Amino acid sequence: MRLLLVEDEKNLAENLKKGLTEQGYAVDVALDGEEGEFLAETEAYDLIILDLMLPKVDGMAICKAIREKGLSTPVLMLTAKSRIDDKIEGFTSGADDYLTKPFSVAELYARVKALLKRKDKTELAMTEVDDLRIDLFKHEVFRGPTKIELTPKEFSILEYLVRNKDGVVTRTMLLDHVWSAEYAGNSNIVDVLIGTLRKKIDTAGKVKLVHTIYGVGFKLSAKA
Ligand code: CA
Repeated sequence: MRLLLVEDEKNLAENLKKGLTEQGYAVDVALDGEEGEFLAETEAYDLIILDLMLPKVDGMAICKAIREKGLSTPVLMLTAKSRIDDKIEGFTSGADDYLTKPFSVAELYARVKALLKRKDKTELAMTEVDDLRIDLFKHEVFRGPTKIELTPKEFSILEYLVRNKDGVVTRTMLLDHVWSAEYAGNSNIVDVLIGTLRKKIDTAGKVKLVHTIYGVGFKLSAKA
């Protein structure tokens, strides 16, 4: 899951990015409204955390602009204001939820999780592929009765593969959704992590689930 955080308070932005990254999200940060709006409109995000008071373009204007362009990415608005009028205006501008500063990070994580869950209403918390069971909210994976321990990045890759079950996922799609924009490393990282994921999931005697589609990418499927 890739998030965009638009927040001009540098320390807050850094702390939130660190925390959210530890929770397994890929996070891009924009420190002003102009950059935030640009990234929101040009990159693929699963959620946008948007501060209201921002230099150059304020959060309300960004929210209106991206909704006018037809983007339905969930928006969590952050604001120091708690007046009811601002909340109403925020929701009118297209924000999905509101968090008033100061807030606890636990509260932010809970809102982020809830919004991501709401994003895809048809999605079940528990997904099965053959006897592989993935709990997307508890971040737990089982193959048969055996619990599989995955690193946050391995889980993010598996989660993206599961959301695109039986469909081909390219390396670029994985890089766009699992890593933040600042990742400048080799795209071989995808192959390396697919390799470790496969080792953990496709154990001896089990139906092979992680498939490499030569020259294209990968597929999670119980069918060959
Ligand atoms: Ca601000």
